[in-house]
Amino acid sequence: MGAVLVYVDQVDGAVRKPTLELLTLARRIGEPVAVHLGPGAEVAALVLAEHGAARVLAAEAPEFAEYLVVPKVDALEAAAKAMNPVAVLVPSSGEGKEIAARLAVRLGSGIITDAVDLEAGVDGPVATQSVFAASFTTKSRVTKGTPVITVKPNSATPEQAPAAGAVEPLTVAFGDAARGARVVSRSPRESTGRPELTEAAIVVSGGRGVGGAENFSVIERLADSLGAAVGASRAAVDAGWYPHSNQVGQTGKTVSPQLYVACGVSGAIQHRAGMQTSKTIVAVNKDPEAPIFDLVDYGVVGDLFEAVPQLTEEVKTR
Ligand code: FAD
Repeated sequence: MGAVLVYVDQVDGAVRKPTLELLTLARRIGEPVAVHLGPGAEVAALVLAEHGAARVLAAEAPEFAEYLVVPKVDALEAAAKAMNPVAVLVPSSGEGKEIAARLAVRLGSGIITDAVDLEAGVDGPVATQSVFAASFTTKSRVTKGTPVITVKPNSATPEQAPAAGAVEPLTVAFGDAARGARVVSRSPRESTGRPELTEAAIVVSGGRGVGGAENFSVIERLADSLGAAVGASRAAVDAGWYPHSNQVGQTGKTVSPQLYVACGVSGAIQHRAGMQTSKTIVAVNKDPEAPIFDLVDYGVVGDLFEAVPQLTEEVKTR
């Protein structure tokens, strides 16, 4: 089986869940080889190996943290040239998509972005995308060069598949452009203590029906009782009730959690585009004709200010 390079996305040395999802998908099309850039490869290799990484190519240099994406592209290019992989997989984050696009240009390859599934094909990996506000599903494959594919978070459930995870040094020669854009400062967003929206197993969202910024505490309390992230519809975000970073939908984030609870959200197509691949969908809406009910597994027709606190209390007793 050919190697599949998986770019390791990490925060402060901790491997992020989308990387483990990529390793799971990579096993369908070849043998996963993780590319770890920065300090801590030996520790990261433990979790990467648990999820199927046969090898971990590791490079350490201050450039990876001090400059924007180009040093990482240099490293992935070196790895791709050394390994001649079946594909290179990168998480579909903002940074991931920039890395992937630059890498594809360097390799003279085709690129597929925002895949939601991957399978092996006779002529190379086949990627599934969900397009036009999730009204169509397309399957595509790269016909030129090494396929570079970005995959949306939550497209697969990380599966354990113990492998060797042998750490090997990756030699990288940085090009002139590597030091072209420097990181001046880095300030982590104030933590809410809640999971990251796109990676959360449970998301509780509020819409216009919440009626005001102060009322979002009702949504937050349910979210906290479930260990969930908080999402919001665009109507709630545009009204200034919740930050744009929490918006779910076509012009917000795409989530695909195990459980999505929509409260006071009508279910417009642009909102559905960001959440309809959730495994179980629950809605609380006082309008029985709300389009969200066409989508749900469980629906509560009623006032969210009555139903949601009751739900929160019930969850707390469990
Ligand atoms: P509404 O449609 O107004 O629905 C509010 C719902 O709350 C209603 O169904 C009502 O019955 C219910 N309700 C009211 N009070 C209560 C109560 N007390 N208890 C229970 N239920 C109650 N939208 C997004 O969400 N995300 C996007 O990324 C996005 N991108 C867009 C991009 C484009 C190009 C366009 C044109 C639109 C986009 N929209 C997006 C907007 C989208 O079309 C809708 O306008 C928006 O999703 C509506 O938000 P909502 O469901 O919160 O509000």
